[in-house]
Amino acid sequence: MGLGSSSPVRVRFAPSPTGHLHIGSFRTALFNWLFARHNNGTFLVRIEDTDLERSKQEYVESITQALEWVNLHPDEPAVVQSERIKEHERILQELLAQGKAYKCFCTQEEIVARAGDSAFISYDGLCRTADQDTQKPYVIRFKLPNITEVSFDDLIRGTITFAADQLDDFIIARSDGRPMYNFVVVVDDHAMGITDVIRGEDHISNTPKQILLYQACGYTVPNFAHIPLILGPSGDRLSKRDGATSALAYKKMGYLPDALVNYLVRLGWSHGDQEIFTREQLIEFFTLDSVGKKGSIFDIDKLNWMNGVYMRERSAQELVSYITTELDADFVAALLGWDAAQIERVVDLFKERAHTLVELIEAVKRLHDGPPHYEQADLDKWIEPETKEHISELIEVLQVHENSSIDVLQDAIKALAKKLGIKLVKLAQPTRIALIGSSAGPGVFDMLAVIGASQTMARLSRLRDLK
Ligand code: GLU
Repeated sequence: MGLGSSSPVRVRFAPSPTGHLHIGSFRTALFNWLFARHNNGTFLVRIEDTDLERSKQEYVESITQALEWVNLHPDEPAVVQSERIKEHERILQELLAQGKAYKCFCTQEEIVARAGDSAFISYDGLCRTADQDTQKPYVIRFKLPNITEVSFDDLIRGTITFAADQLDDFIIARSDGRPMYNFVVVVDDHAMGITDVIRGEDHISNTPKQILLYQACGYTVPNFAHIPLILGPSGDRLSKRDGATSALAYKKMGYLPDALVNYLVRLGWSHGDQEIFTREQLIEFFTLDSVGKKGSIFDIDKLNWMNGVYMRERSAQELVSYITTELDADFVAALLGWDAAQIERVVDLFKERAHTLVELIEAVKRLHDGPPHYEQADLDKWIEPETKEHISELIEVLQVHENSSIDVLQDAIKALAKKLGIKLVKLAQPTRIALIGSSAGPGVFDMLAVIGASQTMARLSRLRDLK
């Protein structure tokens, strides 16, 4: 066990605000949060905004919003890396003073020329000892100690070893004086008391450099865990087309936060065959041992399925309240003439079939407004020459029963089918098409009960009178 593992767990999620919170990073945040909660530890956020050209405040805000949307709150105020620059510079000077880093005046051309044909252009250490012309611009390099390898026990991947010849005296501050990424990460992780660094596997190659810097600064080296990437269906890195978009885009597409969390945690982590977990269960069961070593393939169908499961678990009232606060503030207002109970009945009807809240909203509005068009395939299949006649008869039955209960009306329609010598479906499907434009939908009597006989008659006439 490393020293780090005996102190209370402190982890951080360290996004760079150069874009919205991508779902890959979002999953990294979740794994950190779950690890902290499982170990009664502390979850921190650090905004890595030292790339001043590419970092934007709007991204800091959208990342924060995305974390808030799924209730991942840092336990202490977020640390902003650019505000710590003085501290970074102070430690840099210490390393220089201790001879653990040095100024390098070589130009890139000089370094390349001296490196010859070697594949890895490593710095030859000339400025470790050469006389220095302080008029020239310089970078600051880390003086690689005399080692043969750097090795660490990754909590997910096991032992990872880098031979020393894969490393050189790497740059820790640019010629404009700005400290480099690997250096500031180490200074900040130490200052924040980070015990476990959990991040994407694209950072594995930074880890040996960071370990050497920890040691040079006299800091305790934390544990490391590198999470495999999320892959597209072809096994390559997830592309935009396959779903590599921001967490907030999934919110807009109508995924419930808990469903997206459940889906993303299962993408790369497992607990037996269980698919659906409450947040409490995730906290209880989550360990890094159960994170797979291989990349996981993003599967939008599974996310849709899971979101459907979560939608059905919610009451209509909860869904309406979520929709109006998070997705569509005008949702209720647009359903003119329907009271809360009616809206909830319709939400209950449609939530059985919808995969996303956006689908649900559209379906509810379609029943309210009437279909903007009819599905051609459904017309071809269900509207036969004699159907218009049947619809007229159906309208007459509805007229008679305008004020009857839905049960009485249902019996009357069944009786009509019998009288016409047709199956009930031959009346039900055209009615469904008249009501919502499609033969796929909730029970026709359920919809009829909500929108009433007179509205149904109007829509049936519209369909009958279609050319
Ligand atoms: N800022 C880095 C990123 O967004 C994370 C670095 C780290 O976790 O150490 O990929």
